Amino acid sequence: MKVFKFGGASVKNAEAVRNVGEVLKGFSDTEVLVVVSAMGKTTNQLELLAKAYYEKNNSINDLYKELKKFHDDIIAGLLIKSDSHTYDDIENLFIELECELENTPDANFDKVYDQIVSYGEIFSSRILSAYLNESGIKNRWMDAQNFISTDNTYREGKVDWEITENLISKKLKPIVKKQMVVTQGFIGRNKDNFTVTLGREGSDYSAAIFAYGLDAENVTIWKDVAGVMNADPKKFPDAIKIDAISYPKAIEMAYYGATVIHPKTIQPLQSKNIPLFVKSFVDPSANGTIVGVSKDKEVHLPTIISKGNQVLISISSKDFSFIVEDNLSKIFNAFATSKIKINLMQNSAISFSVCVDNESEKISHLKAGLEKEYSIKINEDLELLTITNYTSEGLAQLLQNKKQLIEQKTRNTLQFVVGK
Ligand code: ASP
Ligand code: MG
Repeated sequence: MKVFKFGGASVKNAEAVRNVGEVLKGFSDTEVLVVVSAMGKTTNQLELLAKAYYEKNNSINDLYKELKKFHDDIIAGLLIKSDSHTYDDIENLFIELECELENTPDANFDKVYDQIVSYGEIFSSRILSAYLNESGIKNRWMDAQNFISTDNTYREGKVDWEITENLISKKLKPIVKKQMVVTQGFIGRNKDNFTVTLGREGSDYSAAIFAYGLDAENVTIWKDVAGVMNADPKKFPDAIKIDAISYPKAIEMAYYGATVIHPKTIQPLQSKNIPLFVKSFVDPSANGTIVGVSKDKEVHLPTIISKGNQVLISISSKDFSFIVEDNLSKIFNAFATSKIKINLMQNSAISFSVCVDNESEKISHLKAGLEKEYSIKINEDLELLTITNYTSEGLAQLLQNKKQLIEQKTRNTLQFVVGK
């Protein structure tokens, strides 16, 4: 049994959806679960719609229409028979969304967000499933929410592994054994029966959750790139594909900003030793990257991972007390309640510096919580560089003309927070 994940770019228009069909044609005799993301940039659009709805803003209508037209155009481009009713249920889904937008929004924005934004994956999976069936690739559409059970952390749902594994292995597995199943990434459901999303770009993670529950033989993430590269090809034209990496290396790369794999994807796979392939949907027979080889089989290339739009927050106590246990626990608590992920940290006797993504709302919340007792300094517009297998010349070149704010070194990895 295999799990395939197709991201937004792989279904961004009718031609792309047809290409997914081409890729899947070769697997009609295989037990496959297909996990699909929202089409193109739909999730960004839906974020705007959720905000407009919550704020009762009059752009709701235009945003809704734009979204509907985008999907209608894709459907029109996919139609095989002009009198086809295959896509009627998608029309109904849009009406459902339209009705939802007429209700009074819940007071909790994050909850509203999840109920609206999750439509992107429902639309895309419905369209893909219908298209595949029309083109002879028989499959069944399934709602991922029936299998992925989460807590109530809207927008960043935490998976209840016991329930989820049980649902997937008992209820979904027998269906996948019979025929190809098309389902959604990114979404689950809590015990109150509301949709909970798993965090932006979370479809890779969904694929891993399903693979875990199905005890899949492998997972393939189909991308518009050849595989995992040793640096971002947009910034480094000499970047090359890495053929094989271990799970820990992939976790590190994903965590520090290599956007090909969502950071949460690896651990569920590692725990069951399920290999992950990252392959090109443009050239499906090419090898791609295999994630999950043992350390000794790993291909050692210099890797440069760059995470942009970083902020350095430096915190020191106003009463000149040292940044030790008491203060650290208060500071960490403030990060946790503001839901800020720490990318890198460094402490000294009197100050504590943290590099995080520039999420202004969360950072304002953090500041408000700490300001009374601490002085807080913020540097913006920074980059976090994570480098392995480097040479001193390569390093000098990379850091040329960059202002270094923090340097950290472990046995294998060198990290810098740099500015211009
Ligand atoms: N559609 C969601 C997003 O764009 C999930 C995903 O693409 O993985 O964040
Ligand atoms: Mg997406």
